[in-house]
Amino acid sequence: MTTTPDTLAARLLHWHARSARDGLPWRDAPCGRRDPYRVWLAEIMLQQTTCAAVIPYFRTFLRQWPDVKALARADDEAVMRAWAGLGYYARARNLLKCARVVAGERQGAFPMHEDDLRRLPGIGDYTAAAVAAIAHNGPAAPVDGNVVRVLSRLYAIDAIMPGGKTVVADHVRAMLPEGRSGDFAEAMMDLGATVCRPKNPDCAACPWSDACRARAQGETGAYPRKAPKKDKPTRRGWVFWLQGPDGRVLLERRAERGLLGGMLGFPTTEWAETAPDAALAAAHLPNGWRVLDGRVHHTFTHFHLELGVIAARLDDAPEGAALWRETTALEGEALPTVMKKVARLAQK
Ligand code: SF4
Repeated sequence: MTTTPDTLAARLLHWHARSARDGLPWRDAPCGRRDPYRVWLAEIMLQQTTCAAVIPYFRTFLRQWPDVKALARADDEAVMRAWAGLGYYARARNLLKCARVVAGERQGAFPMHEDDLRRLPGIGDYTAAAVAAIAHNGPAAPVDGNVVRVLSRLYAIDAIMPGGKTVVADHVRAMLPEGRSGDFAEAMMDLGATVCRPKNPDCAACPWSDACRARAQGETGAYPRKAPKKDKPTRRGWVFWLQGPDGRVLLERRAERGLLGGMLGFPTTEWAETAPDAALAAAHLPNGWRVLDGRVHHTFTHFHLELGVIAARLDDAPEGAALWRETTALEGEALPTVMKKVARLAQK
């Protein structure tokens, strides 16, 4: 059997015609005829998370902001609230920036070409290629972690990833079927998600099984090649659950730059290898503060976080940009997941 790039692409598309994933609300029309707004929104949301996690967020956004002009007019806080829980909050801020550029400077029309898409806020190489391919069937080949994995196995690519991504991209471009780049991109995504999974790939169900070099070597687990993983460090700190005389709890807006930038949260100490002594951390609080039982654990991309919670009653509301909330309203607030964990522990 011949296994030229064209043949491989044809086999993949044939497989996908029968095996495409169902129930993804952003796949509401054939590739090339989809609303670029929906494609873009889905692709931004899908970075670093799963389809199952994204579906309810995608539906909520479309219900509230059905097109890019509506999103551009949205209140920042309402968007952050709708995004809360998806993580990587810089993406939500860039989402708004991008919507405002497209609505303001381009009369609501997303560019068709990958290079022009890449100039928009928050759109990197992958998203630009995905939108160009899926919305417009443009000659673009998005390469994400799934594609890297599948192609690394198919061709037994020895380059260390993610640095060796260009090798993968060259292979994908060689396969790209003219006029069907959108279907091809989605077929690659589906193959990576359902068949050529990170662990236990289902090679018997794979349209490329007889061409796959990693499979022939019995080494599917060895690809993609990666540099040895460094252990994630753990950072520690204290977070403050401060209630005013009326029982409302104090929130603050985090600095724009940095982790969870611009999001609401409870006041905290710095997060470092070791947390300061509780008495030192609570030195600015009135007497009667206490350390609550338990710890909040959360994992970010680059580190694990362990937070202790110090609770106190304040006699006076602090001045300045303090934000007070009823404790019963916290679940509906645009709080990042780690802060929701804090609220749950404090109210146990
Ligand atoms: S044969 Fe197996 S390892 Fe190779 S591409 Fe297919 S699923 Fe992945």
